[in-house]
Amino acid sequence: EERSRTNNLSASPTTPLADPAAFPCLAANTGQSGLGKSTMINTIFASHLVDTKGRFEADEPIRQTTEIQAVSHVVQENNVRLRLNIVDTPGYGDLRVCFKSSCTPCRNSWEPIIKYIKDQHSAYLRKELTAMRDKHIVDTRIHACLYFIAPTGHTLKAIDIVVMKKLSEVVNVVPVIAKSDSLTLEEREAFKERIRAELAHNEIRVYPFDTEENDAEERQLNQAIRSMMPFAVVGSERNVMVDGQPVRGRKNRWGVVNVENEQHCDFNYLRNFLTRTHLQDLIETTSMVHYEAFRSKQLLALKE
Ligand code: GDP
Ligand code: MG
Repeated sequence: EERSRTNNLSASPTTPLADPAAFPCLAANTGQSGLGKSTMINTIFASHLVDTKGRFEADEPIRQTTEIQAVSHVVQENNVRLRLNIVDTPGYGDLRVCFKSSCTPCRNSWEPIIKYIKDQHSAYLRKELTAMRDKHIVDTRIHACLYFIAPTGHTLKAIDIVVMKKLSEVVNVVPVIAKSDSLTLEEREAFKERIRAELAHNEIRVYPFDTEENDAEERQLNQAIRSMMPFAVVGSERNVMVDGQPVRGRKNRWGVVNVENEQHCDFNYLRNFLTRTHLQDLIETTSMVHYEAFRSKQLLALKE
């Protein structure tokens, strides 16, 4: 049973997207530094990269901080072109954090990320409220936030719980176990189970979650994904030779981890989930759940 579900996931067709400019999708990337965030983004999109631009082509330039970097790519999946803006953040885990959400040094480490996400909502709202409404609005909202969990095999860190909780209130959070090649298969399964229990215990709503509009098939797919989460991934920016064929992987003294081999890690599931099965839903959920919550709060504040 488990098998047919996972096969389903990888076989899912690409969601057709009309116009790349109409559905840009952003991914923010959070977690402590050295966890392979930049590598993972390059692994997911390298093979689909058509064109890279160092800046957004927005009518209003995004305020760039020295810490948060936004890069715009055009990716191609089954003849569907999509503009994708990747926001790569520095790690915040380098600080000696005390894990209290009231602590200023701790707040300073993750608040810029939350602020960045809210700033995109705010920019979108401003455009919606002005005469530009009838024009096409460049969408720089963050549609997915990959959260990188250190492969300790133990439990989540207190800071992970605080930050994921905050993030999940403003963005679709997709937790992943970084550098999972350092864990055995049994360790990965146990770690995943513990993380799922901790997320549930702390009432952290990670993506995907069901809404009333979801039909039975969508619910089943979401359930299959949730039972696999967090995806245990391995990233690599290089090809290594296996049986005379180049594969995306990492070579060790004892062998090769092929990142695209589903026996080795969950990379394929993550990529299909983000770029195919749930791309459209990530965009809709951002607009209907996260942006809508932001918008109604802002409009209410304006009235008062
Ligand atoms: P970032 O600071 O989170 O952006 O991390 P980087 O992508 O710069 O990667 C930090 C180091 O970890 C680099 O030397 C990568 O080659 C290595 N690395 C990245 N992904 C993996 C992985 O999945 N497994 C292992 N073992 N190393 C990785
Ligand atoms: Mg990096």
